[in-house]
Amino acid sequence: MARLLLIEDDPAIRTTLLRALRDRGHAVAAAAAAMEGLQTALAERPDLIVLDLGLPDLDGRELLRMLRAVSRIPVIVATARDEETEMVRLLDAGADDYVVKPFTAAQLDARVRAVLRRGGGGGAEAAPVLEVGGLRIDPAARTVTLDGTGVELTPREFDLLHHLALRAGQVVTKRELLSEVWQVPYGGADKTVDVHLSWLRRKLGETAQEPRYLHTVRGVGVKLSEPA
Ligand code: CA
Repeated sequence: MARLLLIEDDPAIRTTLLRALRDRGHAVAAAAAAMEGLQTALAERPDLIVLDLGLPDLDGRELLRMLRAVSRIPVIVATARDEETEMVRLLDAGADDYVVKPFTAAQLDARVRAVLRRGGGGGAEAAPVLEVGGLRIDPAARTVTLDGTGVELTPREFDLLHHLALRAGQVVTKRELLSEVWQVPYGGADKTVDVHLSWLRRKLGETAQEPRYLHTVRGVGVKLSEPA
């Protein structure tokens, strides 16, 4: 069971999701507007927030920025627009994942569980520290350093990098990344992998055109390897 906060102004959607998420065993609080949602988030510290972008008092993206300034509570954004630029903007603004409207409660619940699994650090066994060139990935502490300097990653970016590091030197397919890192089947969502890879690249200070660690193998997948 997780404690969720649903910020959604549409009463019909709110009621439906509230009921469906509770039926799936979550404790769910709801807010119908952005500022009310922010106050509830800070007061109640839910495990995860589901945020509708179209809110009456404040744009959801703005709320996300305000929230990220003070909190790392995972956020899944509900957006009406299925566009890559919009996705990148949302992920950049600190969203952990997104669902595109219209979505089912089952889809949302799957995303909620996946985000919480990533953030929760459930498996307590001490996983070994991985080193690839100047990259050092510590799965127990969930920290990454590059040439001794800390790199700030979101939970998903960390899992992506960790998975690639486990297979360092090998090409990992998007299909594998989707099933192992995102826990979703292949098909349609592979843009998600590209978006997260581009973000990871930026944080590692490299580009797809001039890769150091992350090498795209066109039509196959991606490989993490020590810079030449
Ligand atoms: Ca709305």
